[in-house]
Amino acid sequence: MIDLHTHSTASDGTDTPAQLVATAAAAGITVLAITDHDTTAGWDAAIAARPPGMTLVPGTEFSCRFVPEQGRRISLHLLAYLYDPDHPGLRAERARLRETRLHRARQMVDNMSADGVPITWEQVERIAAGGPVGRPHLGRALVAANVVPDVETAFRELLSSRQPYYVPKADTDVFTAIGLVRAAGGLPVFAHPLARRRGPVVSDEVIAQMTEAGLVGLEVDHPDQDADDRAHAAGLARELGLIGTGSSDYHGTNKATPVAVCTTSPAAYEALVALPSARRPVGP
Ligand code: AMP
Ligand code: FE
Ligand code: FE
Ligand code: ZN
Repeated sequence: MIDLHTHSTASDGTDTPAQLVATAAAAGITVLAITDHDTTAGWDAAIAARPPGMTLVPGTEFSCRFVPEQGRRISLHLLAYLYDPDHPGLRAERARLRETRLHRARQMVDNMSADGVPITWEQVERIAAGGPVGRPHLGRALVAANVVPDVETAFRELLSSRQPYYVPKADTDVFTAIGLVRAAGGLPVFAHPLARRRGPVVSDEVIAQMTEAGLVGLEVDHPDQDADDRAHAAGLARELGLIGTGSSDYHGTNKATPVAVCTTSPAAYEALVALPSARRPVGP
């Protein structure tokens, strides 16, 4: 079983990289990608914890935006596999993204505090533990303060982009991100392209433009995409010559989704790693 999108405590998951590898191995995963948000911080620990039978694919999930000529910006996520972590341009962009996360999380805390919600920055900082701070960390702080029973409820009632406390991040323009990932020798795959429950999604035409810019794959099977959207994404991938992947987007206990709930076919994985890239997967 192949799972190409998971998170650890290096971003907003609850398993350490070593625990993530162990959880995945126990679930029968033989190829695992660790794809924390805007960082490579979990790579070394995950690789060090790799059991002999498992292949590890280092990756990152980049926070991006598409800015239409008219209308509202759309936030979207780009998975990048097997790129050179030392590429200066992409390294600088990861640092900038972590900085904008910090800024935005502080603002969201201020917005909630001003409205009487008992959440403090100190608490959020402790939970994020120095990694890229995300809304799941705010969610856990809200659970700890007994404002909500769980992180899902925190999103629904306080943290989603539909709520008044929400503050957007200064995410990377998606075409810039695709260019940077390719320049760093990486393989860009559009994460959960049709995850409508998170907010507005981009059109097929934008995905075609992303493909022209160097996108190589589309995450077809993902827990936030229903059967119709998966079928549509699969058709679009075929039409555009993109590799269709599947993944759990596991976040430990920050989300209800178990590891390996969606997976990538061996054929799609082979097609992906057959493409030229700066690094090779680690393992058999
Ligand atoms: P951020 O990157 O700070 O904007 O937060 C987005 C992250 O929140 C995503 O990567 C998911 O990990 C998580 N997320 C989004 N929606 C939900 C939800 N409804 N419940 C739990 N976690 C969510
Ligand atoms: Fe996340
Ligand atoms: Fe994502
Ligand atoms: Zn993710």
